Amino acid sequence: MVESRALVRRWLGSLAVVGLALLFAFSTFPAAESVERWFSLAWYPRLQHVLTPMSNTVPFALLDLLALVALIAVVVAITRAVRAARREHGLAPVGRVVARLVTAAAGLYLVFLALWGLNYRRMPMQDRLVLDRTAPASADVVRLGLDAIAELNALHGPAHAQGWGRDESNDAALTRAFAASQRLLSDAPPAVPGRLKRTLFGPYFRWTGVDGMVNPFGLEVLANPDLLPFERPFVAAHEWSHLAGFADEAEANFVGWLTCIRASRAAQYSGWLYLYWQISGEVSAADRAALWEAVAPGPRADVEAIIARVQRGQLPPLRSASWLVYDQYLKANRVESGVRSYGAVVTLILRARFDPGWVPVRRAS
Ligand SMILES: [Zn+2]
Repeated sequence: MVESRALVRRWLGSLAVVGLALLFAFSTFPAAESVERWFSLAWYPRLQHVLTPMSNTVPFALLDLLALVALIAVVVAITRAVRAARREHGLAPVGRVVARLVTAAAGLYLVFLALWGLNYRRMPMQDRLVLDRTAPASADVVRLGLDAIAELNALHGPAHAQGWGRDESNDAALTRAFAASQRLLSDAPPAVPGRLKRTLFGPYFRWTGVDGMVNPFGLEVLANPDLLPFERPFVAAHEWSHLAGFADEAEANFVGWLTCIRASRAAQYSGWLYLYWQISGEVSAADRAALWEAVAPGPRADVEAIIARVQRGQLPPLRSASWLVYDQYLKANRVESGVRSYGAVVTLILRARFDPGWVPVRRAS
């Protein structure tokens, strides 16, 4: 009797966790205004101000530890269930372990939402900023590309003379610029920057052409180990933007670029190099060739070094499979455009109204 009551309680607990996870996954609850107000402006910044400084002091990636513990727990649970099923000549133990794994996955999803994931549902950048035009014409994109190239050509010498450090979170100009960019866009307290960490997933990043990611369970930043020095400031600023709750890729690119162009010349070079790279992938082949003609030999060598880095490392089948999975993940988190949202940064830069010095104009709330 006592045992069966405990069993019922366990089943009810599991049902509640799975039901709650399904509710969050498939309903529009909570609405964007509530997420912005209660999560992004209140709970999340407090959490980030504790978790990121803590994970910065840990020399390894917390994600590696979590992944190893999870892997061992799953293997042990399945092995035990299979042994018990053999002993009992029935499938009940396997059913029980499946139910437990489903509950654990649902619980993990709820933790993901509470620690970071709800940022996917906050107020979109289009609602924060004054946007001037509807869709930019391809001539506007090319013009922005030429602006980026003019900056690259001018900054290449000074940026290389200045050089790039190994720890972006200790670059005072970059962290100041990150705080300034956030204040331009949101009323939330500025996020704490994270140190770019190496991870056991480094080879996976290399094979799939991923530059970096945020561990949503530790609010730490993990980076591709092969990044070239002049790529790192932008990747750092992009991932920090995720830490600041800009979950959408286009928004993180936008905030990352705004940050870099406010920092040292070495970081500015990194930001414009990213924008050139992004635009180059979006224009027609003829426009791409015309843009390339305008790039001076110095930045050209840097672009070629990036292409060589990516080609050396990637495994094309794994790369496309991994981006397909990420596309599905983004769509599951309400980013309708999936990975295409990376490119939406160009539209955002062209449509946003800027005061002099690339200061985006915010909408009156
Ligand atoms: Zn990102």
